[in-house]
Amino acid sequence: MQKYIDIIYNAYFGYFDYLKNEILYPSFLNYFWWLFGLSVFVWLLEIFFPWRENQSILRKDFWLDGFYMFFNFFLFSLIAYNAISNVAVELFNDLLGSLGVENIVAIQVESWPTWVQFLLLFVVADFMQWNVHRALHKYPALWEFHKVHHSVEEMGFAAHLRFHWMETIIYKTVQYIPLAMIGFGLIDFFIVHIFTTAIGHLNHANLRITYGPLKFVFNNPVMHIWHHAKHLPKGLNGVNYGLTLSVWDYLFGTAYIPNEGKNEALGFEGMESFPKTFWYQTIYPFHTKKNNENISQ
Ligand SMILES: [Zn+2]
Ligand SMILES: [Zn+2]
Repeated sequence: MQKYIDIIYNAYFGYFDYLKNEILYPSFLNYFWWLFGLSVFVWLLEIFFPWRENQSILRKDFWLDGFYMFFNFFLFSLIAYNAISNVAVELFNDLLGSLGVENIVAIQVESWPTWVQFLLLFVVADFMQWNVHRALHKYPALWEFHKVHHSVEEMGFAAHLRFHWMETIIYKTVQYIPLAMIGFGLIDFFIVHIFTTAIGHLNHANLRITYGPLKFVFNNPVMHIWHHAKHLPKGLNGVNYGLTLSVWDYLFGTAYIPNEGKNEALGFEGMESFPKTFWYQTIYPFHTKKNNENISQ
């Protein structure tokens, strides 16, 4: 038990020191300043080359989404995720140990060239995320959490990281075992993380970019705005689930871009009654779950 308490203590204070250093000492290997720099860069593009010219520079929910960005990228890790995940990994390894499994690594990638490792991690992780994202739309209990992301009404770069913290737990949990099996564990390759953050910012930006023929490989603002469209063809609970790569949607038939969708209404049915503030959006899924249970009883 003491071991787990130590892990929580070290995770919490270790991360606090890490965050403090990140903010105080800008460098090229620094998530905080990369996120800040990328955000300013994409925001400037939105200001100078807007797709929807009538959208305000400080669009609806700009500051709320900015807070989500900081919260999900840093604070949630500081408050809980770092400790939870370290304990979960230790428990998982202890469980494997008690079953006589010393190592779940199925493929040793360490001897491979670094760029191949990058590419493999990126493609495997992105495909898993595509599947998780589909599940977030398909299963009502998960959709309650994902509604936060879909409650954005005016798209801009900061909407990228507007999501419920439970999504971090769901995505990372589902990804952990397959990535550990190819020897990646919980580590993130810095360059992959920065690249996916940049594409994610651009997907939500008020910019008309499609990357030409590369649109069949990379997700883009025109494709992703349809993911947020309020009105979809009957019977579909989602389209264009891609995060960084669009290729999965083309391969599995979930791509849908009927037109550019520049002024398409965004959101979901009944969002008028969806909470408008961070705190109420955070507790909302837990309430609806309770309400549904009460109804079904
Ligand atoms: Zn979605
Ligand atoms: Zn989105």
